[in-house]
Amino acid sequence: MSYKKRKHFVTERIALIRRSKIRELFERASKMEDVISLGIGEPDFDTPQNIKEAAKKALDEGWTHYTPNAGIPPLREAVAEYYDKFYNLKIFPENVIITAGAYEATYLAFETILEEGDEVIIPDPAFVCYAEDAKVAEAKIVRLPLREENGFQPDPDELLELVTKRTRMIVVNYPNNPTGAVLDEEVAKAIADIAQDYNIYILSDEPYEHFLYDGAKHVPMIKYAPDNTILANSFSKTFAMTGWRLGFAVAPEEIIKGMVKLHAYVVGNVASFVQVAGVTALRDEASWRAVEEMRREYAERRKLVLEHLEEVPYIKAFEPKGAFYIFASIKDTGMKSEEFAEWLLEKARVVVVPGSAFGQKGEGYVRISYATSKEKLLEAMQRMKKALQEL
Ligand code: PLP
Repeated sequence: MSYKKRKHFVTERIALIRRSKIRELFERASKMEDVISLGIGEPDFDTPQNIKEAAKKALDEGWTHYTPNAGIPPLREAVAEYYDKFYNLKIFPENVIITAGAYEATYLAFETILEEGDEVIIPDPAFVCYAEDAKVAEAKIVRLPLREENGFQPDPDELLELVTKRTRMIVVNYPNNPTGAVLDEEVAKAIADIAQDYNIYILSDEPYEHFLYDGAKHVPMIKYAPDNTILANSFSKTFAMTGWRLGFAVAPEEIIKGMVKLHAYVVGNVASFVQVAGVTALRDEASWRAVEEMRREYAERRKLVLEHLEEVPYIKAFEPKGAFYIFASIKDTGMKSEEFAEWLLEKARVVVVPGSAFGQKGEGYVRISYATSKEKLLEAMQRMKKALQEL
């Protein structure tokens, strides 16, 4: 059998989805030799051993079948316990759905909340998936500019100006990808007030909540607007489990029920043994010790990169307090961010992500990930310094 060379058409909905620029650049870089990638958006650490052992044991014990769509009860309970333990927030297993990562949690939220033509406010710059999710939900995207002078946090007055009768959702993501910014409590409260006053949902995507530096604190949005918040979260970054595809959403019960309906026909359930390992990840002290070790290592790398970037001409870093990214201005080079990323790849064999991949307001910046070893980071910094000195 062979496929006939006939043209096939996908729906407009799917055709509109933009492939991530981040991946395009990676593909080019992967064909070159001696390249150091600071483009990666995932931990370079291995999943902690206790979590891997839990998955192996679960497989041996026969966790190889379907589970309830919303997730196994012990994992939904463990998520509820987790919010109590870390933030003193009382949620119930019924408020939790176990998803295939934060990606799925976000997608389900968009599909469950937004009618065609509803407006969704998405910050600019922002992580790439929200705008694509909005397109698939046939919602209207309204971009809220984030400015370096405001620490890349929303200006509540500006946010208010964008609210109309059709506004149904605001996206919030702190600690932030790509800027590394964390959210001030005052700003969180102001966003919560606006959401409550105008009956808007907040999609709060919080997968980097444990990677905080210089004494920064994370403020989960459900603390301020529980009835208006759909919280997306993930095991991917916290426990270095990107490949496991395990995440969850927390929301009012009616919304969770809606999300479960769609999830039931797309994913069915997250792999059963993966869910069992998720319980260990959340409940076992050994996993939290591993998280703290990873955080410390990120903290050292962050310091190292920030120090070295100071010596790189034309580049000015925004000092991040969270996640594992540095958003750095390249405006003084006179290049556009995409042009700069390509130039740096050719000239220094270093991959960074152009800020424009995250929205128009990301133009003039690049995202540098420090989820890679100190040796590689040092070498990359030296290469960048040399290349820019010769500019
Ligand atoms: N949200 C943000 C802000 C991210 O940076 C990522 C991954 O890079 C995701 C969501 C998706 O993560 P996952 O689906 O692996 O949980």
